[in-house]
Amino acid sequence: MENCLFCKIIDGEIDSDIVYEDEQVIAFKDINPQAPTHILIVPKKHISTLLDLDEEDNELIGHIYQVANELAQREGIAEDGFRVVSNCKEAGGQTVFHIHYHLLGGRDLQWPPG
Ligand code: C5P
Repeated sequence: MENCLFCKIIDGEIDSDIVYEDEQVIAFKDINPQAPTHILIVPKKHISTLLDLDEEDNELIGHIYQVANELAQREGIAEDGFRVVSNCKEAGGQTVFHIHYHLLGGRDLQWPPG
């Protein structure tokens, strides 16, 4: 999708610190980390928000959680615990309109979030 920041990262037009990639997803370190581990897991398919998910995306979203599982273990945050979160639209805190999942860990996270 034109003018989508994450599509540009996926296409290699914008640099990012990629930690995982396969046919369906890419994962890279958040440029403004909110925790010692802060990775964004992003499907290569452009989906703007959670509200745009179709049933045909169910396998893809399940895969994203498997990637989160793998990365949490690789990053050493699995034992203590971590958070996977996806913000939806402005009031939910979404700033990039290409669906993505934040993998956060490495410190005690607060609940509820701000
Ligand atoms: O959930 P939200 O849409 O706000 O998340 C977007 C995330 O993308 C932010 O955490 C921001 O720091 C990150 N980002 C990035 N690299 C960019 C631009 C934004 O990691 N070039």
